[in-house]
Amino acid sequence: MLAGITAVRAGEGAGSESDFGLTTGGLSRDVTRRYEMLSGATGMHSSVVARQVHGIRVVEVGSPPGGGSRVEGEADGLMTSEKGVLLAVTAADCVPVFVVDVAGRCIALLHAGWRGVAGGILEVGLSLLERRFGVGPADLAVYFGPSICGSCYEVGADVLRAFRRDASRPARLDLRAELLLRAVGAGVAPNRVLRSEWCTRCGPEHLHSHRARGSEAGRMAAFLGLVPGTPTRPRSTNRGRELR
Ligand SMILES: [Zn+2]
Repeated sequence: MLAGITAVRAGEGAGSESDFGLTTGGLSRDVTRRYEMLSGATGMHSSVVARQVHGIRVVEVGSPPGGGSRVEGEADGLMTSEKGVLLAVTAADCVPVFVVDVAGRCIALLHAGWRGVAGGILEVGLSLLERRFGVGPADLAVYFGPSICGSCYEVGADVLRAFRRDASRPARLDLRAELLLRAVGAGVAPNRVLRSEWCTRCGPEHLHSHRARGSEAGRMAAFLGLVPGTPTRPRSTNRGRELR
């Protein structure tokens, strides 16, 4: 299993070498080259990224014929059981959600902003892993990556209504805390639900933040893959200690 998020040099923004956004990153051939470098640097055969639309669609992907990098259609989540294909989602305040089978049979990577969280993209991803691969929440571990923190994320009435909160005045929202409750509520063991403490806005400078820089912000690529050549552990040996 291989997971991470790309870093940003101080001052870099939209269109820079650290921008993996399909719409912000500049010429599509430059963005494609960045993804090819990423899959090469991580030892994977190929990478797949989707056109994110703040929806709840999660699609199963395999390795593109001949390797390289591929752009899927509109989706905010990718899943696979194929080794060597690097899943990627882009974010700059939204939460990259890493979902892994602790036995290494399948993975999912989701892009969750407030619309995705409220709409249930996490629940959709978990249920699809179970339906497609027979891997239920009890066999999964979940990690919420760097994203905007609860102190920095002030939201208005439309967002608060989506979360069934008092919408009479602006309030702050912690998307990772919301996701954590939802993961546990869906049946993932609490000790297998982990979160980054990094905030894209008030945290380290090496992260892109849309709230901080607006249209000048680039997008980081969060990535997750099943490493080629590693054996999948049989179900009977999976007792859940591997990822702790
Ligand atoms: Zn913050």
